[in-house]
Amino acid sequence: MQPALLWKRQDDNAVLCQLCSHFCHIEPDERGKCGVRVNKDGDLFTLVADRVAAANLDPIEKKPLYHFYPGTTSFSVGTMGCNLACSFCQNYSLSFPPKQGQEVRGERFAPEQIVEAAKRYGAHSIAYTYSEPTIFFELVLPTAKLAHERGLKNVLVSNGFMSPQCLDELGPHIDAANIDLKGFTDDFYQQYCGAKLTPVKNNLKRIAKSDWWLEVTTLVIPGANDNPAELTRLAEFIAGNLGLEVPWHISRFHPTYKLMDRDSTPTKTLEMAYDIGKKAGLYYVYVGNVPGHPGNNTYCPGCNAVAIRREGFQVVKADLSKCSECGRPVHGVAMNALEDRYAG
Ligand code: SF4
Repeated sequence: MQPALLWKRQDDNAVLCQLCSHFCHIEPDERGKCGVRVNKDGDLFTLVADRVAAANLDPIEKKPLYHFYPGTTSFSVGTMGCNLACSFCQNYSLSFPPKQGQEVRGERFAPEQIVEAAKRYGAHSIAYTYSEPTIFFELVLPTAKLAHERGLKNVLVSNGFMSPQCLDELGPHIDAANIDLKGFTDDFYQQYCGAKLTPVKNNLKRIAKSDWWLEVTTLVIPGANDNPAELTRLAEFIAGNLGLEVPWHISRFHPTYKLMDRDSTPTKTLEMAYDIGKKAGLYYVYVGNVPGHPGNNTYCPGCNAVAIRREGFQVVKADLSKCSECGRPVHGVAMNALEDRYAG
């Protein structure tokens, strides 16, 4: 247990946590909604500042980030707990136990060890991911600072429900983010995630204006957020407020955790969402979790030629810096970093 950041003491030894947009009021000996921040005698502590519950070397495409140093690897770390309560959580064995008062599992890792491991594995970046990185902010911040000093990039894979204060603090230390936009109604966020839509939209707008490279992911769930009108509003929000060049990843739902009462998303629903994204004017829309689907490739926004062909998370052919057919640049960061590897 280590001292937490971003909180204020209230009357009667209660505390106000300011790390995420729940702004939990936490009484002594209670935990916040995330299950990993606890009030002890009027001070707030975190249970996860030195715990890593999952670590892997992943292709950056798996985050997914398709337009940020494509073809590189990212040392991906996560801990336990989450500030949201999604009934369709794909990492529920990590995210939910602390919320139920259970022990936080994981190995003790200091920022120095995470950065060293990333360097040892030849990773280009460190990804803060798996459960929600907001809630292990006290580990993310010093690790990200050290990673930059050692020449590594930092990547956040987040639900976007952090507080404005948290986003301020993370700002200079993160290089790219994939942020979930899980639906586009307050009802959906409330009913399926125990959260609110507005803070996510506000954070997305701020991130789009920042120096971070931004990509957005929506898991399309049958009967929950697959209404064409809702998807249209969501795609138009990205196009109008974040930018036409912001990639939108449409991902297939599979029954999991508490949402076992429906089938996986039909491919035709994902293709309908793809068409909605393109009609909204988005340059880069992707169909995810459907092996071999042509919607996993990058198409030139100018002439629609295949600019980057992928098999799963592997780049197999790329005109990374510009389309070989019409010469139009493909948006992104260091798209030509590995051009030699994929030439031809
Ligand atoms: S991080 Fe969010 S969910 Fe956790 S205690 Fe703070 S305000 Fe509550």
